[in-house]
Amino acid sequence: MTTRQVGLAAAVVAALAFGGCAGSQTQAEYDVVIRGGTLLDGTGAPGRVGDLAIRGDRVVALGQVNGAGKLTIDATGLMVAPGFVDMHAHSDPWRLRHAGHGPSFAYQGITTELFGEYGSPGPLGGKMQGGLSEDETISKEARDQCRTLGGCLKFMESQGSSANFASYVGSGAVRAYVMGYVDRAPTTEELDQMRGLVRQAMHEGAVGVSSGMSYVPNIYMSTDELAALVREAAAFGGIYATHARTMNGTDPNAVREAIDVGRKAGADVHFHHLNSTAGPKAGEFLAIIDSARSGGMNVTGNSYTYTWGITPLSAYIPAWAQEGGREAMLKRLADPSERRRIAKGFVSEPPYLANVGWHHVRLGVSDKAVNGKLVSELAADRRQPPEEVFMDVVLAAKGEGMVIDWNNEEETLRQVLQKPYVAAGTDGSALALDWQDLPPLIHPRHMGTIPRWLGTYVRDEKMTSWEEAVRRLAALPFEILKIPQRGTLRVGNFADVVIFDAKTIDGRATFEQPNHYAVGMRYVLVNGVPVIKDGKYTAALPGRALRGAGYQGS
Ligand SMILES: [Zn+2]
Repeated sequence: MTTRQVGLAAAVVAALAFGGCAGSQTQAEYDVVIRGGTLLDGTGAPGRVGDLAIRGDRVVALGQVNGAGKLTIDATGLMVAPGFVDMHAHSDPWRLRHAGHGPSFAYQGITTELFGEYGSPGPLGGKMQGGLSEDETISKEARDQCRTLGGCLKFMESQGSSANFASYVGSGAVRAYVMGYVDRAPTTEELDQMRGLVRQAMHEGAVGVSSGMSYVPNIYMSTDELAALVREAAAFGGIYATHARTMNGTDPNAVREAIDVGRKAGADVHFHHLNSTAGPKAGEFLAIIDSARSGGMNVTGNSYTYTWGITPLSAYIPAWAQEGGREAMLKRLADPSERRRIAKGFVSEPPYLANVGWHHVRLGVSDKAVNGKLVSELAADRRQPPEEVFMDVVLAAKGEGMVIDWNNEEETLRQVLQKPYVAAGTDGSALALDWQDLPPLIHPRHMGTIPRWLGTYVRDEKMTSWEEAVRRLAALPFEILKIPQRGTLRVGNFADVVIFDAKTIDGRATFEQPNHYAVGMRYVLVNGVPVIKDGKYTAALPGRALRGAGYQGS
């Protein structure tokens, strides 16, 4: 072989290695062909072994596929399902900080996530304090774009995202924008302005109105005020998604209130983290929802798969003492007579979060001497009452930080997960284990909510069939949201597809060892593009903004 021939042979080998052979590309009929997997189509129909072909961003063939694919995936022995949906995600600031990346969700097979609780990515501004608008870890450009929900969705789409995303408009954000953090009813003008902001957000693509009723300023809002806002969204088919005015099974009337808001506004109702809302009283809470459903209302919920939750540190402070915003709260915490009143109100006044007991509240703050300790432990160390210790921690942390707190037992969590109207909501964020700005405590739900659902509850405990689990994780959310062409494996639908090993799928993160991605996910495709390939995050950003029926374009 001459030197020139060697060079030519090497060029051919290189071309083949990179898949650059022109002949094979023109022959490929499809972009991706997935062969021989068990297809769980999301409808609940029995799984069947078959192939799936993708061209561009769509599923174009199902069953037996003969043509070649530019990428061929052998799925023998694996499950092939529509991509999973996180009905309650808090990834928006993280995706803004980290250029759209979110490996911890990709490893869970999450191809679409929903933003919005008391706040939402837009509207920002007005009398609002803190949050995204003042978060200097987020670029100024992003904060400027997120002045409206539509601007923020557009910005997030243009920077790219490893998952699709949609958003509610947060009723707390709308109220803070117009009224700040005052504990009173709105005037007619203020309410009109708030309704206008909801209408605007619906035109910009929101899928409904959300609330976080344990939090200021949502906690100051009445049922009728909420219904007035939700009615604006219902006119476009928008739903009401709520963190009800209670946690840990404290007050069943809070569930009735949320259903009432939906009834008055003419909207479907969706409960965020029904597991922590219902807490140890799951039976009683679920019965209220069951009865509304049998009365013809469309009431659904989401749940994560852990018995402890996360909430902002300052949310434990009685609502009256949070009036006026963070600075006003810190001032009260520094005032001896106000402190006495706050100490008494932890358990007896809204939002009643401390009723779980201080031995069930783990502190997540930047102070390393305090971070990770239970309030009860710190109180014993300091030989002080837990209320005093907690107030000191909030003051020292200037109101920043979070807690990991107990919600319920495994048994009551299972009661929630068994309900056919319950989808998954991580209540967590898409993170990367190597980021330098991770929260002080990592909750395993960021890493393993859905794989734990499939591994622990479906495979190990046989709570439901795989088919039913996939229906709930993939199809039910899009039915709830009324977003077409996603959630099932069907020709013509968008190609959000997960391929996982049913034998190994599970969440690896625990409260003690949270720094583990989930295992068992082999491929995750978002709009036809792999974000997990051969079990590894690809860093592709094919996610899109999904918008509600009120969207009027840009
Ligand atoms: Zn919540």
